[in-house]
Amino acid sequence: MKVLINPNSNPTQASTRDQYLSAPGFGKYYTDHMVVAKWNEKTGWSDATLQPYGPLSLDPATMVFHYGQEIFEGMKAYIQPDGGISLFRPEANAKRFARSAARMALPEMPVDFFLATIEALVKQDKDWVPKKVGESLYIRPFLIATEVGLGVRPSNEATYLLIATPAAAYFNAANAVTVWISTEYVRAAQGGTGEAKCGGNYAASLVAQQQAAKQGCDQVVWLDAKERFWVEEMGGMNLYFVKGTGKSAKIITPKLTGTLLPGITRDSILTLASDLGYSVEEKMISIDDWKNGVQSGEISETFACGTAAVVSAIGAAKSNAGTWVTGDGKPGPITNEIRQQLLGIQHGQIADKHGWNKRVI
Ligand SMILES: *Cc1c(COP(=O)(O)O)cnc(C)c1O
Repeated sequence: MKVLINPNSNPTQASTRDQYLSAPGFGKYYTDHMVVAKWNEKTGWSDATLQPYGPLSLDPATMVFHYGQEIFEGMKAYIQPDGGISLFRPEANAKRFARSAARMALPEMPVDFFLATIEALVKQDKDWVPKKVGESLYIRPFLIATEVGLGVRPSNEATYLLIATPAAAYFNAANAVTVWISTEYVRAAQGGTGEAKCGGNYAASLVAQQQAAKQGCDQVVWLDAKERFWVEEMGGMNLYFVKGTGKSAKIITPKLTGTLLPGITRDSILTLASDLGYSVEEKMISIDDWKNGVQSGEISETFACGTAAVVSAIGAAKSNAGTWVTGDGKPGPITNEIRQQLLGIQHGQIADKHGWNKRVI
């Protein structure tokens, strides 16, 4: 399968684009192109087309509108010191996209085909990659069920789409977020779709996010569905807890039990923290461990991680069991160190020992 190139004959003017890039926000502006590829049960995948960004025309009875058969990915392209552009571990996104597809009864896209579409879009829209460290071009591949019909069954047709949006630093690095630990709603249960990156998981999470906002919190923290006791994730990010301080600190993340989304940032930090000399551990962490650890001072820092926000410190945690504040409520030194290391590697400023960066230009 190839990516056919049909460039936009009326792209955004350079001066307008530069103005957008001076304050990119997140999801505010989209690049001049998108990629579209179609799949159908009889003929499989067709070639992809890179074409001008623009609206879709879909029959109102298209399956995705009714039963939510949809998956997505989120990845970034980063400017390099020599002006080139790199992706961070894109094969990991390609493989997760295929696993998400399998769970949602959607067709698996071959890894090389997926990567070819990403490279084609980044090359074509390279001038949309912001130039400051911490900023990036956020890339959003997604796959939707496009057979027309209201019968409930896996769609015989699917459409892959790829769009990109310049992104500023997501959370303010100087601030910690406040979280509401939900005991009323859950994100994922054993046997459900928690491991798949699907829109449905997010649709089901929004009411809890609203509740968090009512409690004056920025984000929601999810507990396991059965006991409402084991800490799983924060919104669309994975969690980390730091026990102790300095080089003897231990860095712990909730173990992947089948209901957590296996984050690529989470996985990278396991390696990175150990490279930095910390001991790392994946294990189940209960809400009591968290609360007691913070109150005794053993837990010195808490942070969340994901592609969009990179690393984000957690200050106060609120729940029906009370409120506790980690450290002085501000981002701690190990949180900052890990954020700086990760950003440094992604932007080509720190040696990429594990071959994570994939140069596109
Ligand atoms: C995407 C996502 C993450 C983070 O994954 P990364 O690969 O690190 O971006 C964590 N949790 C959820 C629910 C997600 O959807």
